[in-house]
Amino acid sequence: MPDKPIYDIIIVGGGLVGASLAAALRATPLKIAIIEAAPWFTDKRPPSYDDRIIALNYASHRIFSSLGLWKKIAPAATPIKQIHISDQGHFGFTHLDSKDLKIPALGYVVSARHLGESLKEILAGSAIDIIAPAKFLDINQCDDLLNIEISSDKQSQTLQTRLLVAADGGNSKVRQHLGIKNHSIDYGQTAIIGNVTLEYPHKNVAYERFTRSGPLALLPLQNNNCALVWTVASDKTEEVMALDEQTFLSSLQQQFGWRLGQFMQIGQRHSYPLQLSRIEEHTRQRVVIIGNAAHTLHPIAGQGFNLGLRDVASLSEVIIDSLKAGEDVGSDMTLQSYVARQKPDQEQITNITNMLVQVFSNSFPPLVIARNFGLLVTDALPPLKKFLERKMAGLSANSSRLLCRLPLSEP
Ligand SMILES: Cc1cc2nc3c(=O)[nH]c(=O)nc-3n(C[C@H](O)[C@H](O)[C@H](O)COP(=O)(O)OP(=O)(O)OC[C@H]3O[C@@H](n4cnc5c(N)ncnc54)[C@H](O)[C@@H]3O)c2cc1C
Repeated sequence: MPDKPIYDIIIVGGGLVGASLAAALRATPLKIAIIEAAPWFTDKRPPSYDDRIIALNYASHRIFSSLGLWKKIAPAATPIKQIHISDQGHFGFTHLDSKDLKIPALGYVVSARHLGESLKEILAGSAIDIIAPAKFLDINQCDDLLNIEISSDKQSQTLQTRLLVAADGGNSKVRQHLGIKNHSIDYGQTAIIGNVTLEYPHKNVAYERFTRSGPLALLPLQNNNCALVWTVASDKTEEVMALDEQTFLSSLQQQFGWRLGQFMQIGQRHSYPLQLSRIEEHTRQRVVIIGNAAHTLHPIAGQGFNLGLRDVASLSEVIIDSLKAGEDVGSDMTLQSYVARQKPDQEQITNITNMLVQVFSNSFPPLVIARNFGLLVTDALPPLKKFLERKMAGLSANSSRLLCRLPLSEP
């Protein structure tokens, strides 16, 4: 019998967050494996490398640039120069501009599919072991190591590791297995996405419009298309998905208005039920939980993956620090240092996102008036506006080395 392989780090879940962590650590001497339930080496992709469109904020652009990944992502990325926020049928609006922050863009729009393919390409040229399709089954502590049982090809095998990173998404089996409590709010809303062809040029403006049915976002794409993220009440999803193209487009037009001229075409539509969830504990002995497994957000402010990528930046930094100090990468000290760095960011973004959903999905008249004054005041007050612009660009979060464009190994 060959010896069981011993890894420094096993990442459960090769979605956008797990694969980004592996990519961040690819140049280290650490022995790392990704366990991914979906096929990896065929044309089929992990389920999250799908048609959804991700608005990467400027901070994520910086992190990917520091990791040497941006050049792969850039050809398919469309810059967001401005963001226009409005409330359907009311007076309030705010206009955010990258020029106020003296940065080239507040963010970039790219498909999850392209991001995933770029990460796969980077990992293919690295020493990271990709074990897929394979499912995490069980975990047991054994001295200074964890025994991880996985199933692949209908067989189970045990791997050993010093640190297990759970990046296995909103229904995290690792989290469930450890009995870590997860608090979730079901908003009763579903996001419908699809690409819309416009009559007028979008001029790299992203639109966020709060409508009676829920928030609606149009994000600029190449070839004068926009990515639509339209939130509807979950009990209306089937009805809206079943609308023929013309009826769907005119209903969308009614909600959005004519700022971009006529909506000409809509591509394939997909739907995603929405919820907010957050965990009570971020670590257990030699285990850390990141990405959607730790926090699943409503896409209203496009923050879910951006926050997950900052989890990656903070975690890879503390791992490198402990490696340089000759410490154990799975020690309590390493993991607590990650929690101290990243938990405030996670709490802040989760609270802001939840507040936005509650405030902008509510038609209680005093609240409607207050939020419209809020939008106008934000537009009129440069310091407040700059604060919001920095938040949207992700520049007010923790200052990990990757976010400051420094290499991971910098002292
Ligand atoms: C409509 C929509 C629009 C969005 N727009 C934005 C946006 O504009 N900006 C933004 O920042 N975010 C956005 N998000 C959020 C973003 O998509 C997620 O935050 C991100 O994809 C989460 O990645 P993840 O890797 O943590 O989890 P996941 O993508 O869920 O990946 C988890 C991986 O783990 C694997 N897995 C699961 N169980 C096991 C197991 N037992 N064993 C092994 N592997 C397992 C799965 O196969 C999967 O590959 C949006 C989300 C939606 C739904």
